Amino acid sequence: MPANYHTHTPLCRHAEGSPEAFVDAAIAAGLSEYGISDHAPQIPEPFDDWRMLDAEMPDYLQWIEQARQHAAGRIPIRCGLECDWLDGCEPWIDTLASRHDWDYLIGSVHYLGDWDFDNPKWLGKWAASDVDEVWTRYWQTYSRMAESGLFDILGHPDLVKKFSHRPQGDLHRFYEPVIDAIASSGCAIELNTAGWHKPCAEAYPSPDFLELACSAGIPLVISSDAHSPAEVGRDISRAVETARIAGYRETLLFEKRRRGSEPL
Ligand code: ZN
Ligand code: FE
Ligand code: FE
Ligand code: ZN
Repeated sequence: MPANYHTHTPLCRHAEGSPEAFVDAAIAAGLSEYGISDHAPQIPEPFDDWRMLDAEMPDYLQWIEQARQHAAGRIPIRCGLECDWLDGCEPWIDTLASRHDWDYLIGSVHYLGDWDFDNPKWLGKWAASDVDEVWTRYWQTYSRMAESGLFDILGHPDLVKKFSHRPQGDLHRFYEPVIDAIASSGCAIELNTAGWHKPCAEAYPSPDFLELACSAGIPLVISSDAHSPAEVGRDISRAVETARIAGYRETLLFEKRRRGSEPL
């Protein structure tokens, strides 16, 4: 099984499980590497209620150290962060990047302006929105994140479909410009299995997007976005199959922000 680099810890306030339980699940699933990438702090604090605070960063590094000690060489433990892409965030991402010798940084778009559109708390806002407009804004934001070059991995590419809001017609009009932007940035994307368990009932990104990404030469990682030990290995083999159907034959590995690869 490939590496799984997108996983969380209880520090983000909406995940559960000990470092030992997460690592045991990773070993049981036969993953090649286990990476921890909890929701990064965001200023000004308190920013929202679903991430660690800046002052908790030492606890986060300690949590990872405990995972590494428990793994005791049985599986490599990598450490990263899932950072939020927000307007004007570049200096803060630089600050986060310099805080530790990370193996990788994941960039994710969860916010459009001050709206965390993937938060079920604000489903009412979706009901009052024009889906085409939200999608346009989402993909423009995603392209800017890719172009920033600040991240190794771009998270859950079409998260905007989470609650099954999809524009009419062929979605390639949204996909093509962002595929170009990602391909020129050199960033990897992830195939994130969490979407299979959300109202959209489809991994992020869609099979169509994945096929375009593969044709454009965009590298891939596979991840489950685990918020509990039970989710660590969930659907990874299904994702491997999905990635192979899209044309992928390898996934990336990261150590100290340098990349390697392993066959799929
Ligand atoms: Zn989360
Ligand atoms: Fe996320
Ligand atoms: Fe996540
Ligand atoms: Zn994520």
